Amino acid sequence: DRLITAEVISEDTAIDRAIRPRRFVDYVGQAAVREQLEIFIAAARARKEALDHVLIFGPPGLGKTTLAHIIAQEMQVNLRQTSGPVLEKPGDLAALLTNLEPGDVLFIDEIHRLSPVVEEVLYPAMEDYQLDIMIGEGPAARSIKLDLPPFTLVGATTRAGLLTSPLRDRFGIVQRLEYYSSADLTQIVRRSAQILGIEAEPEGAAEIARRSRGTPRIANRLLRRVRDYAQVRGDGRIDAAIADQALTMLKVDALGFDHMDRRLLSAVIEKFDGGPVGVESLAAAIGEERGTIEDVLEPFLIQQGFLIRTPRGRMATQSAYRHLGLSPARAPLP
Ligand code: ADP
Repeated sequence: DRLITAEVISEDTAIDRAIRPRRFVDYVGQAAVREQLEIFIAAARARKEALDHVLIFGPPGLGKTTLAHIIAQEMQVNLRQTSGPVLEKPGDLAALLTNLEPGDVLFIDEIHRLSPVVEEVLYPAMEDYQLDIMIGEGPAARSIKLDLPPFTLVGATTRAGLLTSPLRDRFGIVQRLEYYSSADLTQIVRRSAQILGIEAEPEGAAEIARRSRGTPRIANRLLRRVRDYAQVRGDGRIDAAIADQALTMLKVDALGFDHMDRRLLSAVIEKFDGGPVGVESLAAAIGEERGTIEDVLEPFLIQQGFLIRTPRGRMATQSAYRHLGLSPARAPLP
């Protein structure tokens, strides 16, 4: 329902195939992550070994799935993709593992949502390339052990804190993705525009980038909506003015905030006097789930310095008051 959600919505998947970067040369930004992975991949390839297991974490839409695919591509191996909630039984995971070829990448998205019984199968598989699984039930049950080919598990999660420590400890490479700078996002918008045959001027691309919450998935989506606007209200070309008009019409403000962000900030300010307010009270006040606030709404607001998390709850900062055109009720504010 939210144009600027960082989660995948159905219209994203259709064009994803065309614009998703396939190699590191097309992967914009995240320089530190990219440099390290390039070295680890080159070293593993030189030794003719499988790459060590990789855990990638960070907010949705920042390129975790894309990186998993690039890793497989650069290692010149196959990628098998699944996700935590899909693997219901140990047998589901066993089926995937026994189908791997040497060096392959197994990508598990939302790895924090693996069930404990499935996770147990993963430990020996990651550590010793061993499958150790019970088949059958009751007196007929027996355990079988199988050797697996060396493989690379790439796990992605938005909530690294929810991973059990035995699982986390089995990843040799742990990478955190950060929100993108406007400059990086501008480059991503320009690249996508070119692939999709959209005429976007640098200033138009920059305007979309600034309002995309540091998130490539959102930037690509806003590009498509602005294109529609440019086609109908202009001559199809995206310049700064058209981008601004389109995004204003779509109620995405100059900082990339929408009604939900503004509702959260104004609740903190107007209902709780600027805070501190506990996340449960805040959730009740704006009618959202606590999880939605913690996972979806507040990370970007905190990262941008509009909200801070204190031991006593969330507080609105001066910037939040200013952005909403309100004057601080009392001093001093953070
Ligand atoms: P996640 O798995 O973290 O939710 P994805 O890997 O699916 O995110 O990325 C979302 C979209 O953003 C992809 O379709 C891809 O086209 C684009 N994207 C992500 N990271 C980059 C990047 N570094 N450079 C260019 N495009 C990117």
